[in-house]
Amino acid sequence: MIWYNLSVERIPHLHRACKAPADAFNKKGSFLWKTWKKVVYLDNAATTPCAPEALEMMVKALSGACGNPSSHYSVGYEAKEFVDTGRAQVAKAINASPAELFFTSCGSEADNWAVKGTAFTKARQNKKHLITSAFEHHAIMHSMAALERMGFEVTYIKPTAEGYIRPEDVEAAIRPDTALVSIMMANNEIGTIQPIKEIAEVAHKHGVWMHTDAVQAVGAIPVDVKELGVDMLSMSAHKFNGPKGMGALYCRKGVWPQNLIDGGSQEARHRAGTENVAGIAAMGKALEIATAHLDERMAHESELRDYVIDRVLKNIPEARLNGGRSPRLPNNVNISFPGLEGETILLDLDMHGICASTGSACNSDSLDPSHVLLSIGVPEEIGHGSMRFTFGPQNTMEEAKYLCDVLEEVIPRRRAMSCMWLQGQNTARQFSLKGEQ
Ligand code: PLP
Repeated sequence: MIWYNLSVERIPHLHRACKAPADAFNKKGSFLWKTWKKVVYLDNAATTPCAPEALEMMVKALSGACGNPSSHYSVGYEAKEFVDTGRAQVAKAINASPAELFFTSCGSEADNWAVKGTAFTKARQNKKHLITSAFEHHAIMHSMAALERMGFEVTYIKPTAEGYIRPEDVEAAIRPDTALVSIMMANNEIGTIQPIKEIAEVAHKHGVWMHTDAVQAVGAIPVDVKELGVDMLSMSAHKFNGPKGMGALYCRKGVWPQNLIDGGSQEARHRAGTENVAGIAAMGKALEIATAHLDERMAHESELRDYVIDRVLKNIPEARLNGGRSPRLPNNVNISFPGLEGETILLDLDMHGICASTGSACNSDSLDPSHVLLSIGVPEEIGHGSMRFTFGPQNTMEEAKYLCDVLEEVIPRRRAMSCMWLQGQNTARQFSLKGEQ
């Protein structure tokens, strides 16, 4: 468990819900309001805590290398050394060459660049049609929508009910004027892993560029760009214990989406702007560590995932798993609890110190039903009662058990107060009584 400093103004009652450690009390035994809250962080798909080694690297780069990596004198070279090392580490982790890697400000920028940049490049050959899936991250969905407003055409492939894109559906959508196929490697809500290698083969058979948004995959499962055969791949450092605000786009040698950010000659003239030296150094370090311990990490996370899925489906009536069980990200659990709103469950979990996310909204500011759950056919009212729990290497089996204990207490208690649930139960009872007659 992680213990964080928190101010009492936010959640005053938490000390009762959690077993606080001895140093959360003063000598007289009173709880120190401004001291401790137990946090069980189960939202690693949203972001991950920065690895101490990555943080150390950031501090080293920020405090040491004061020069601009483009400057031609020693302190500039020193800064460039951090950038070169980070680039080499990231490239090695995905089996790319350093020259094929371009740093961006985040995963969203990498996605925007791949999609819009390719559309602008290919429009010169009159190719103005793009293919994607109906359950991409908004960085892709909204980039596609922006292109549609500019006169491009987009086909959105519907996933199967289990949450997979079928290569044959992609092939059927390809036209002579198709510029790009962009399908995510792992879905950020339901964790299903897509057959990217097969989809890339289909795209290439028809001479079409293939991009994958691998933001949830890099650092979580093996990613080898040569093996996958993709032309472009997006990633984001804060998903693998690196810093927030750092991303990268892999572009296979010879593949050039048009620049979106013009200016200086950084990133081989393809993405202008003075490099985030500390961010790049930390991203490289974080990914080096994540890939070095990948097998261990996957085994650990999938043990927690399977424990939670099995126990919740067994002990909580009508709970249903969203997305197929395999292939699925080792750390992803997405479950619907019919009869409840995800936001209610989220608040209850927060009171028990558990951080998770609703599966019903792609961002916490929106109450719209999740386009991901709708795309796999989850009814809107059930989608609203969905929760996503995502593990990281720092989580323990003790935390997985704690989550299940809390869910087994919270869900029946909330359902007992939920008109939606009680009405549903009555209707089901009436149907079964009629059936018996
Ligand atoms: N793509 C996917 C699949 C994601 O999950 C995310 C972030 O959650 C992004 C893109 C955007 O990445 P970033 O937060 O670095 O902009």
